[in-house]
Amino acid sequence: MNRDELSLSINRWMKENGTEAIALASKLVQIESVNHPPTGHEAEYQRYFAEWMSAQNAEVDLYDLADVPGLREHTAYMNTRNYDNRPNVVGRFFGGGTGRSLMFSGHADTVYEGTETWTYPPFSGTVESGKLYGRGSYDMKGGMAAALMAVKCLQDLNIPIAGNVYVESVVDEEHGGANGTLAGRLRGPNPDMAIIPEPSNMRVYPAHLGGGIWKATFTGKSGIAFAGEELISALEATIEFANLLRAYNDYRKENLEVPSWWHDRKAEVTLLTIFSGDVTRELQEKLPETGELNFWIEGYPGMTGEGIIADLWAFYNSQLANYPLLQKCKPQIRPLIRYLSASEMKNDDNTARFLELTTNSGTKVLGRPPEPPTGSPFACDGFMFNLYSDTPALVLGPSGGNAHAADEFLDIASYEALIQWYAEIIIDWCGVLGNEEV
Ligand SMILES: [Zn+2]
Repeated sequence: MNRDELSLSINRWMKENGTEAIALASKLVQIESVNHPPTGHEAEYQRYFAEWMSAQNAEVDLYDLADVPGLREHTAYMNTRNYDNRPNVVGRFFGGGTGRSLMFSGHADTVYEGTETWTYPPFSGTVESGKLYGRGSYDMKGGMAAALMAVKCLQDLNIPIAGNVYVESVVDEEHGGANGTLAGRLRGPNPDMAIIPEPSNMRVYPAHLGGGIWKATFTGKSGIAFAGEELISALEATIEFANLLRAYNDYRKENLEVPSWWHDRKAEVTLLTIFSGDVTRELQEKLPETGELNFWIEGYPGMTGEGIIADLWAFYNSQLANYPLLQKCKPQIRPLIRYLSASEMKNDDNTARFLELTTNSGTKVLGRPPEPPTGSPFACDGFMFNLYSDTPALVLGPSGGNAHAADEFLDIASYEALIQWYAEIIIDWCGVLGNEEV
């Protein structure tokens, strides 16, 4: 078969195997794998993943993070999690010759179902009107199912891929985890290139944002001023700090140097939660003694969590004259999760070639050129590849919506296009036996 015939056969295969592809994505959603730091419920999902790959003749490595030498001592390891019964798994497919190697790597865990009302039960994997609903369908079981089905497509078509193709499912990415991805880099393999199927809405992200969550706590002076004494509302101080963070967001957008990947979507400061006073009682009869504000700040490659907070304090001190309550009630700030570094693929001939073939194969599958490569608007674990291994990582995943919210869904048309796109990338990057390029 020549190259165009291969593409035609992939397209035909997808038309004939849509039902099976949807069933796999739905099954992955049905195996609940919620992360509850410091523990997580990924085990059953990981075992299913391992069994599925074994049944497809992969060489499978299912291992405990405790068995990875050097993990706990690594500078990027976050030592606040429990990894009992939370194995990583990686499968190796193909690789009969000398082609380049490629890994699809994604996280097994999801955030919890939340307190909002779902139209369909969150672990049902319900398919309705071109959408597959459920927690993790979009972030990121749909993308991982696409990687598995791309491999299966090439196997079914008996296309002898020359390089090794790996599919890796890691534990503990949500809530600033990423230790599972680090364990994968230390254990290996570390192939020539990696794709992270995080939901990118079919966009090609050679770089991703970083970010961290911090908590600011305030202690006021509570009570009722019967004698006219000065009291300090921690709630008012917390609100002033929230306003200061909003001003800081504007300040950063105007003053931070923006790497070219992010001209359309700059790093943000986001308010997450606010608590004040005794939240267990509806009636409050005094000024609140305490206030807490959780917030998220994003960063570009090269930034650190410490650097971001030092910059925030510098802004705080420069603006204090505008915030009278903060002068009396200073926040304590501490990180709630590790800072997830931003990162980008290194810029060399190999990554340039990979990006080019990814764009070309995307054009073939989508019937139009994909959107130009840009920086992702979200943080992820890609930095464990780009900063702590020799494998550059590209983020490319399906379309959908409502990530981390109710009615999370995977867009099925994009899922089927992504399976074909991945299959085309495997052929062009890893080569076909008897047809190897040098
Ligand atoms: Zn994710």
